Amino acid sequence: MKMQIGGKSVEACGGEYLDIINPATGELIDRVPRGTEDDAAIAVEAASSAFSGWASTSPQQRAGILYRAAGIVRQRKDELAVLLTREQGKPLAEAKNEIEGFANVLEYYCGLASSFHGDFIPVPQNGYAFTVKKPLGVCAAIIPWNMPALIMAWKIGPALISGNTLVLKPASNTPLTNLTLASILSEAGLSAGVINIVTGPGEVVGESLVQSHKVKRISFTGEAGTGKRVAELAASGMKKVTLELGGSDPMLICDDANLKDAVAGALRGRFYNCGQTCTAVKRLFVFESVAEEFIKKLETGIRNLRIGNGLHENIDMGPLNNRRQWEYIKELVADVEEKDEGRIVTGGRVPEGNVWSRGYFFEPTLVEDVPGESRLLKEEVFGPVLPVVRVKTLDEAIEKANNTCYGLGASIWTKNIDRARIGSEELNAGIIWLNQHLKVAPEVPFGGIGESGIGRENGPDALSEYLDLKTVMIKT
Ligand code: NAD
Repeated sequence: MKMQIGGKSVEACGGEYLDIINPATGELIDRVPRGTEDDAAIAVEAASSAFSGWASTSPQQRAGILYRAAGIVRQRKDELAVLLTREQGKPLAEAKNEIEGFANVLEYYCGLASSFHGDFIPVPQNGYAFTVKKPLGVCAAIIPWNMPALIMAWKIGPALISGNTLVLKPASNTPLTNLTLASILSEAGLSAGVINIVTGPGEVVGESLVQSHKVKRISFTGEAGTGKRVAELAASGMKKVTLELGGSDPMLICDDANLKDAVAGALRGRFYNCGQTCTAVKRLFVFESVAEEFIKKLETGIRNLRIGNGLHENIDMGPLNNRRQWEYIKELVADVEEKDEGRIVTGGRVPEGNVWSRGYFFEPTLVEDVPGESRLLKEEVFGPVLPVVRVKTLDEAIEKANNTCYGLGASIWTKNIDRARIGSEELNAGIIWLNQHLKVAPEVPFGGIGESGIGRENGPDALSEYLDLKTVMIKT
């Protein structure tokens, strides 16, 4: 596939390409242009030229186009899901959910089209004031490979409905679904240059976008380390920034929890998308009195997970998305064994057999008796490995859960209202779930505290991230 700049499909200025590999088979699926600084600059120029035309349309006209695009996405859901599974690795059912999620988010923002207007404010002994909300101009979106379609929607939905134009840089190993979704937006009537997709390395294309003086806002999703680099570069241009970064979500299971539900929650919370979800359950704290029963049930659940190529039927977990991630997970688990940092209850290996030899598969893994200093508890484990720690009290669970630089999500599993209240007040996280984990919705604000990021996506407040507020005061 080619990049999409100014309504045209184009090659990169440098004439080079990136290979896109199916992580389940190792096969080459496609190539995309390896974008350069020049390509980023051309895309920003295209977005800048398109801005005044797009900003002068009414929000309702914009909603009409986005709504049409969401409809086409729904019609082509199956084909888009296959493409997403081929480049990302997730099971087809998860890919279909994600494609539907893309359409849901777009439609949600269409519904807000009439809502973002200024206010009239009487000013005592002076007169009155009113506020006006205006789009910012060219925005840049930089996204990761774990949920490329959903995260694209989280960025383009609020940016486009509020009248901005956009340059999006997909992750280098999952650009195909993003490029196809952008072509659907054009088919739905989006004018040339309103959305532009530049493929290529983050250090080149991403940094050029962040530093371009014509880019007014950056919305970044990715690792905390990359987020810090983006924030540093953006600071010199005093740009608005949203950073949606990593997490190390804790799941707290009290002795009164419904253990059947908690096991199902842990299985989905950890192993959905092969553990590569920012809000995945990455550390599990369980009350001692129910730990043995819980761990046994969870072990059985994990052993029953069917691993394989996401395109095949009845698969629960696909491969990791890329070699870097696969090597990282293998190294982490090897460390557990070498440094005696816990007992592997189940999993811990690359599955045997020819069928696996070219895919980035790793067994779903449960590790218990993990000491506090283990890398499993300190780092963001972005893969199918779940460390379990036994605790005596809720206070101990909360203290251990909060012992992290991250603060994205957290869940508490209990039937006791006081425990639920205390957990939701004291756990340091941007989103707290009670008796569930992982659920997100377009209506609900999403984002982290601490090193998990700055700003919020989803919900009506996300719109204000893409609008400037101007105040006009009138003396009477
Ligand atoms: P990453 O930081 O390596 O890459 C993210 C994007 O940034 C990619 O498009 C990449 O090419 C680009 N990039 C890399 N270096 C850059 C630079 N110097 N300047 C500008 N852009 C650059 O992250 P990843 O490995 O693709 O994604 C996994 C991470 O994303 C995990 O930490 C995960 O928790 C996080 N994540 C967070 C959320 C959230 O909403 N909080 C959602 C999904 C994923």
